[in-house]
Amino acid sequence: MPDIKCTVSSCHYYRSKNGQEVCTAKGIEVNNMVERPAKTTDETVCKTFIPDVKA
Ligand code: SF4
Repeated sequence: MPDIKCTVSSCHYYRSKNGQEVCTAKGIEVNNMVERPAKTTDETVCKTFIPDVKA
C-alpha cells in the first residue's frame, strides 16, 4: 500500500514518524459527502477515521 500522508492527529491510525505524518491503516475509505460528484476536498471525508482515545 502506498504511503498515505495525513495530518489528522486525533485519529487512531495517525502516526508521526521520521518527521512525516502518516496513516497506518491497512486501507482507507474516502467518501463523497454531497449529493453530486465532489468538486473540492472539503466535500470528501475519510470514513476510516476513528477517534484516538488518547487525543
Ligand atoms: S484513517 Fe483517515 S483520518 Fe485516520 S489517519 Fe488514516 S487517512 Fe487520516
